[in-house]
Amino acid sequence: MSKIIDLRSQTPKRNTRRSKSQIRKVAWHWSGTARGGFWSFWNNTWSKYRPPWSTGGYAEIILSDADNNDVELCYDYEMVTNGVGGQNSYIYNMCVVANKEFSPSQKRVLFERTKKVIDDLNLTVDDVMGHNEFPGQNTQCPGQNMNRLRQEFKAYREGEKVKVDRPTQTKSSSTGSTPSFAKMSARQKYSEIEVAFKEAGLSVTQGQRLLIGAGEQLPRFGADGKPGAETLAAIERFQLKHNISSRNGNFFGRPGPSTIQRLRMIVRYVGVRRHDRGAYPRGTDIRAVQRVIGVTVDGIYGPQTAAAVRSYQRGFSSLTNDGILGPATWGHMFG
Ligand SMILES: [Zn+2]
Repeated sequence: MSKIIDLRSQTPKRNTRRSKSQIRKVAWHWSGTARGGFWSFWNNTWSKYRPPWSTGGYAEIILSDADNNDVELCYDYEMVTNGVGGQNSYIYNMCVVANKEFSPSQKRVLFERTKKVIDDLNLTVDDVMGHNEFPGQNTQCPGQNMNRLRQEFKAYREGEKVKVDRPTQTKSSSTGSTPSFAKMSARQKYSEIEVAFKEAGLSVTQGQRLLIGAGEQLPRFGADGKPGAETLAAIERFQLKHNISSRNGNFFGRPGPSTIQRLRMIVRYVGVRRHDRGAYPRGTDIRAVQRVIGVTVDGIYGPQTAAAVRSYQRGFSSLTNDGILGPATWGHMFG
């Protein structure tokens, strides 16, 4: 039996703490090494960064078979750790010491621990993601086939549930005929994004403009009408930020009705904009337009914005080239 090694009173900490309710995802990592544990990672890597990390990378670490798969408990839920670049505030980071497929006994301990964590945090199996499944991560970590591993974890958890609950299970949701979004190939995901936009009456370009208008970045390709990795990552970021589908990881990354509704709520047309003498109209809808047409985002419909709107209008024969942000121009831009 593996044992818990409680390091929580000894590990380096940051000054701020979060509340447990902020945690919406569990991230699985591997160490990329055959052996080691918190202190070897800290001494050899994390403390060597400049500036050094204020905390280690993981809240808990499942050690190698050679170390009996003991579990190092490094941080409480309330401490943010440095596992997933730019995303850690809502993540509980767990690591397995391995540089190949997790061993069966490592998986058993990982599943056991993760089950406890998601029960504590009131999350679901689909809230458990590999490091490289989070937006904007360029890494092999956790080096496992995540769809398969998550499936195994799901099976493990259902088995556990039967033990606890009454064994009157109804087979539902996850056995539906359409594969869940999370399990699709990248190419399938992209065409699924197109379908989802279409269902909302939007072209891909309009969907991308809504994302940009809402403040998400599409720095390389912009609103090019072709969904790809950049668009997918922007959708995921938006959903995470607005806590959409965090309880239903199956569709994480697919711009379903609640995502579109939220986008439209943020990128909302307020009224016809004209140049009143002296004062320029201002508003959040103008900010959204400015993000799309690429001028300074100050929310003020001044001459620079009007000129950029005019040049946008010039690009489409269906639009009157008047520099006025009326319903036609708005509808063309955002649907
Ligand atoms: Zn990782």
